Amino acid sequence: MKRTPASARLDREELAAMLALRDPAGREELRRRAESVLLEECGPRVAFRGLVEFSNICRCNCRYCGIRRGNRAVRRFRLDPGEILECARFCAEAGYGSIVLQSGERNDAEFLGFVERAVRAIKRETVSGALPSGLGVTLCVGEQAPDAYRRLFDAGAHRYLLRIETTAPALFARLHPKEQTLASRMKCLESLKAIGFQTGTGVMIGLPGQTHGQLADDLLFFRDMDVDMLGMGPYIANEQTPMRRHAAGTRARHAEILELSLNMIAAARLLLRDVNIASTTALQAMDPVGRELGLQFGANVIMPQVTPVRVRREYQLYEGKPCMDEDPQRCMECLRRRINAIGREVCPDDWGDAPHARRRRAGMPEKQR
Ligand code: SAH
Repeated sequence: MKRTPASARLDREELAAMLALRDPAGREELRRRAESVLLEECGPRVAFRGLVEFSNICRCNCRYCGIRRGNRAVRRFRLDPGEILECARFCAEAGYGSIVLQSGERNDAEFLGFVERAVRAIKRETVSGALPSGLGVTLCVGEQAPDAYRRLFDAGAHRYLLRIETTAPALFARLHPKEQTLASRMKCLESLKAIGFQTGTGVMIGLPGQTHGQLADDLLFFRDMDVDMLGMGPYIANEQTPMRRHAAGTRARHAEILELSLNMIAAARLLLRDVNIASTTALQAMDPVGRELGLQFGANVIMPQVTPVRVRREYQLYEGKPCMDEDPQRCMECLRRRINAIGREVCPDDWGDAPHARRRRAGMPEKQR
């Protein structure tokens, strides 16, 4: 039976008004509503996914991103298969339950083969009593052809993140070179869903010229796409990109963009209810307790860094990225402490699929589950 909770009826105007909230009392009321929906639909537990940024080699030229093809100032790297496997073993032993493999975008056969083998090796090597099917594997390797997505799914990845960045056509066009299109992103998301991936998307918040109405439309898009996961974060200017000229403007609006990002998480929780929402690293780049705030505004997933420290500096999408020097062991302890301090708990040895994905599967014909 299709559930139609009252909040699914939130319309564009109501969402935009939530996003625009600035007064502390109004925002606290929004936060409390989002937190109560979160606890009701997903419970108090926070799921961890170890984040491995395994390569910064990228064929794209997104105008906001520090690892864009046109940035000559970055040293390009790719981790060896053995290093990736070591990260995966660390995740499994630390009780993370899931791993996210993220990289710049490439779609040549060599790269696809590399990712496919990495997924297979991780699935094979991380099986244990606590994880009978190995670590859950989430991929975030950009736009690919449907048959490439299929191969990665067959290798054992079961979740995929591909941010739409913004659903406003003119804004999307300003952020990307003309060969990167909104239509192509949409098609990729459709194909990921059709293949059977639990699919996640998201947007950047506080982009130059972005309006509350556009962000409200983004939220309605997430609902209409019936996504399982969301990863959204503040836009943070990078001096090594063509959008550096907006940097001063975004710095001046720092507090506003942080608040807007948190309002966006809360509004997403109220509208989508049972999806996984990540409290992203970019939130912490804006505020030392940004990720805890994200959890308190309705997020339930954290992605601790497990990328080897030696390459972390080479994966700076934006400035002020936190945790550049902490080794994975310290990241984990630090996060656990932070989560307990806000009255939530870590959910060990679990893939941490969204309740939404489980409910969606339950409504599907047997062979598609
Ligand atoms: N190539 C992969 C993943 C790398 S980028 C992919 O396409 O999915 C991951 C995300 O970082 C992007 O989707 C974008 O939303 C975010 N990002 C990039 N530059 C950023 C910036 N300057 N500020 C905030 N987020 C940024």
